[in-house]
Amino acid sequence: MVTVRPIPVLSDNYVWVVENGDRCVVIDPGELEPVQRYLKESGLEVEAILLTHHHRDHVAGVIGLASSDVDVFASTSDLRRIPGVTRGVSDGTTITVAGTMFTIMETPGHTSGAVCYYGGGMVFTGDTMFSAGCGRLFEGTAGQLFDSLRRLGELPDDTKVFCGHEYTEKNLAFAAATEPTNDAVSRRLAEVQSLRASGVPSLPSTIGVERAVNPFLRSPDLATFTERRQARDTF
Ligand code: ZN
Ligand code: FE
Repeated sequence: MVTVRPIPVLSDNYVWVVENGDRCVVIDPGELEPVQRYLKESGLEVEAILLTHHHRDHVAGVIGLASSDVDVFASTSDLRRIPGVTRGVSDGTTITVAGTMFTIMETPGHTSGAVCYYGGGMVFTGDTMFSAGCGRLFEGTAGQLFDSLRRLGELPDDTKVFCGHEYTEKNLAFAAATEPTNDAVSRRLAEVQSLRASGVPSLPSTIGVERAVNPFLRSPDLATFTERRQARDTF
C-alpha cells in the first residue's frame, strides 16, 4: 500500500515521501537533515528522488540523499542546472517508482523547466500550483502558467494535490478578496484555519477542491489570470 508523508522543512516547504513497504520516493528534498532523520527513524530506503524545479528550497538535499543506485529525476531542461540529477524527463514520460507509475507533465510558468508528477491518483505540483494559489512568474509568461494550471485542472476531481509550500491560508484570504461571494472559499478557509491551528498540514488538497476555490484555476481567461497573479504579488 502506498502512503504519502509530509516532512516540513525550512520555513514553509514540504518534502513529500511516497512510501511503499520499506521503499520510498522523496519529492523535492529542499533540506537534508530532517529528511535523513525521518528516513532513518522509519527504516525506509530511498528508491528515487523526483524534482519539480531547480529552486534551492526544493533541491538542496539532493546530493546528501542520493547514492549511486538512486535515480534523481528532473526536467531534461534542468539537467545542467541541478547538481545530482541522473535522469531527464519531459512531457508524457512515464516512470515507475515505489510501485507507482507517474506521468510527467511539463508545466512552465514559475520556472521554465517546472514539471508535475501525476500518478496513483496523486499529483505533485511543486510551486506550479498551491492550494488556492499558484507560483510566482519567475521564468515563464502568464500565458504559460495559465495553460499549465488549465492542464492540472483537467485531471480527475478526486486527484490528490501535493504542493511544495504551506501557503493555503494566505491564498484563501486572497481568494476570498477576489471572489467574495464564493461560499466554497469561506468553507475551505474555516476548515484550513482549524487544521493549521492544530498544526496539521492543509495538504493534500484535491483537484475538485481547487476547481472550487483556486482563483487562478478559476480564471475564465488569460487577462483575468494575469490581473489576479499581479494582484497576488502585492497582497
Ligand atoms: Zn520555486
Ligand atoms: Fe519553493
